[in-house]
Amino acid sequence: MAERDKRRFVDQSAKYTVWFQLRYGHILVHCPRCGGKAQVCLDDNGLLHLTCSACYHTAKIRRYKYLAKAKGICQHCGRWFNVRLDTFYPKVKISCPHCGQVQIAAAEKTDDIYWHHYLGGLALYLTERYKNHTVWALNQDHLAFLIDYTRATLRQKAYYEGADGRRYILTQSQGYYLPKWFKLAKNRAGILKVLERMQKR
Ligand SMILES: [Zn+2]
Ligand SMILES: [Zn+2]
Repeated sequence: MAERDKRRFVDQSAKYTVWFQLRYGHILVHCPRCGGKAQVCLDDNGLLHLTCSACYHTAKIRRYKYLAKAKGICQHCGRWFNVRLDTFYPKVKISCPHCGQVQIAAAEKTDDIYWHHYLGGLALYLTERYKNHTVWALNQDHLAFLIDYTRATLRQKAYYEGADGRRYILTQSQGYYLPKWFKLAKNRAGILKVLERMQKR
């Protein structure tokens, strides 16, 4: 393929994260009442505001909070761990985040605001299966980004300008967070079909 015929795509900074979209955009979820398309965003008090475009249901939803944490030195690999838990028992079975070894650890209650489930149990609206994977998008903007990304035959890394005026590659760009199967050329046509189907929902 000639250079000029390639579809160019310039990567960008990672703004399609659950946290960023809840705070500065919105996320599409299934309405807990009718199953239709609803959107949620986050208010200043940390509550999710839900509005359904199908049944006009509105709700304020509390996100889940971590109740406890287990921390200590792994008996197997000797490294420090700090695991967050959504239930509290004085002794818990945890698997070491470094080596995976399962062991019993003492847990303590915490008042820290660690949210283990940003969406308070709501299910994403824009999801589809592709082979053994799930293709998902937070909202229509995110979906449009994924379509541009998938259509492109020439993917350029995103750059940013450093304090010294030089250009640096943005390593943790939006594209960086995409799984490997999503980026493979052989999956491009199949994923694109799935994404375009999602766009009509
Ligand atoms: Zn509804
Ligand atoms: Zn370990």
